[in-house]
Amino acid sequence: MAKLINGKEIAASVRKRVRFEAAELREKTGVVPGLAVILVGDDPASKIYVGNKKKACLEAGFNSFEHILPAETTQQELLELIERLNEDPAVHGILCQLPLPKHIDERAVIAAISPKKDVDAFHPVNVGKIMIGDYDFLPCTPAGVMELIHSTGVSVGGKRCVVVGRSNIVGKPMSMLLLHENGTVTVCHSKTADLADECRRADILVAAVGKAKLITADMVKEGAVVIDVGMNRDSNGKLCGDVDFENVEPKASFITPVPGGVGPMTIAMLMCNTLTAAKLAAKL
Ligand code: NDP
Repeated sequence: MAKLINGKEIAASVRKRVRFEAAELREKTGVVPGLAVILVGDDPASKIYVGNKKKACLEAGFNSFEHILPAETTQQELLELIERLNEDPAVHGILCQLPLPKHIDERAVIAAISPKKDVDAFHPVNVGKIMIGDYDFLPCTPAGVMELIHSTGVSVGGKRCVVVGRSNIVGKPMSMLLLHENGTVTVCHSKTADLADECRRADILVAAVGKAKLITADMVKEGAVVIDVGMNRDSNGKLCGDVDFENVEPKASFITPVPGGVGPMTIAMLMCNTLTAAKLAAKL
């Protein structure tokens, strides 16, 4: 039977540490970390994420600046807002909640955020810095996954790591972080010829696809560490991951649940990045 990796608990301890360090920063320098979150339109899931980020900021002792814009906002208006936030010394982190409405070019928006305030680490400059292993920020979800893996005590070095999914925000940076820790990394995607065979080789398996229960027990090696990034709804509307938890759990050594695994880590790592941005701005 696998040990459950408790993302809620680990995220709570990260957030506690951030709160403590933010208080120290305030005492020493008077700087209060500030996160600006932009939401364009009224996508219900995005609204929940933005609300959770605000809550996390308040809990960490940060300033939270919310910019809720109508769906008809033009790209130019959004870019102008980002420019103002780039110049605002009270704002250390800027996050534009994705997805954006179709008439707005996501890449142009990401590129407009100052790399120093890009707490999502999506800006091409930060992506490049991650590639060469010289970075200030890591993208929140992959960074959270690394924390979860570290919590198991299993070292990544020399392990066969398989990442399923190659998106710019999860799969690709995830593979890079595992590589930085000396994993032997395979990245799978929708054109992978034999996904089951690739997955079966994994000592550490990270699923980031967005397909309920895609990873079944026959695809998992006995004793593997299984990390489930997926957030899907099953046929009953219940939140579930990419991994068939019930049947995979008996084979794995460690496994994350959904909910309560990777999800809580993403916001915790966002708080870490905002604190880092504030410290950098304070030249610490
Ligand atoms: P994307 O849709 O951007 O990427 C999905 C990836 O999965 C693509 O690379 C795609 O391949 C691959 N894929 C799709 N079908 C298959 C298949 N049958 N076999 C193998 N690979 C496949 O998703 P994201 O990376 O943004 O997110 C992935 C999941 O993680 C989603 O469920 C999302 O909700 C969740 N998520 C969770 C977060 C959290 O905090 N817990 C944060 C971010 C995301 P190809 O490139 O060939 O199309």
